[in-house]
Amino acid sequence: MTSNKIIVVGSANMDFVVGVKHFPRPGETLFGTSFGMFPGGKGANQAVCCAKLGAAIHFIGRIGMDILGEKLAASMQRDGVQVDSLIRDEGASTGIALITVDRAGQNEIVVVSGGNMKLTPGDIESKDELFAAASVLLVQLEIPRETVIRAVSLAKEHNLLTILNPAPACKLPASLLRMIDYLTPNETEAAILTGINVKDVSTAEKAGKKLLDIGVKTVIMTLGRKGSLLVAPEKTRHFPAPRVKAVDTTAAGDAFSGALAVSLVEGKAIEEAIPFANAVAALSVTRMGAQGSLPARQELSRFENALHQ
Ligand code: ADP
Repeated sequence: MTSNKIIVVGSANMDFVVGVKHFPRPGETLFGTSFGMFPGGKGANQAVCCAKLGAAIHFIGRIGMDILGEKLAASMQRDGVQVDSLIRDEGASTGIALITVDRAGQNEIVVVSGGNMKLTPGDIESKDELFAAASVLLVQLEIPRETVIRAVSLAKEHNLLTILNPAPACKLPASLLRMIDYLTPNETEAAILTGINVKDVSTAEKAGKKLLDIGVKTVIMTLGRKGSLLVAPEKTRHFPAPRVKAVDTTAAGDAFSGALAVSLVEGKAIEEAIPFANAVAALSVTRMGAQGSLPARQELSRFENALHQ
């Protein structure tokens, strides 16, 4: 490893969030009760998390030439993400999510991936120099599978640490999993990857061990308010989450994976990196929203000091 840069390869979306009294029936026109437009997408969320924690972070993704793409790029840049490798595509729309939330807090979501699903292995190869100068790759699954595989294999060619947040949940080939240094599934994702019904720490450990058998180097499973579980060849250890009043858990997993990447790029041991990631994610669930709920480094120090009092 030659530097302390992180590369995030992934999705960027604009989320349109509409409040309704009830979901519309086919053909029905409804007056919504609220509207908000928020930058999202797992890749962008994780990149913003890294930047807010003070890391040097390059984002590789694909968005449209439209106004939404402009807004996303500007917002990421304001948060400190380097966006020179965020490709603007004339032939694509910027990825969006239409999210309708009813009075009970249930949601209905329609995603149009747009440019995200047009990010190609060739786009990754054209960033070879960036990979040569980085130390950690962080990637998720909201872009084409072959692009994820090329990003991870290029990272390995350059001796980067690879972190895969396997979200949204799906099955993955062993050839990809074998190239992963740190896999960060939540319970649902771990269950789909392994076929094991993960419902407590003991079944989480069983699923983690199965992933090690397939060839993942280290599994860090996130367990919501129960914290996270490290499953490595030499040890298994549970790290409880700080107790907080959860208000909105959107992007908790993104906060966790982003913070883990930052701690590892700073050269911390995994036993130190996991409590840091738990703290960042716990602080993020105390606030509404996705990228807006992600904490800055200074806020985190205050939060950690308060926890230890
Ligand atoms: P995802 O958002 O991907 O489903 P989880 O729900 O497992 O992921 O949450 C990711 C991390 O966020 C957890 O490992 C934990 O550190 C933190 N977290 C989530 N919910 C809470 C909570 N209610 N209290 C404290 N920490 C939480």
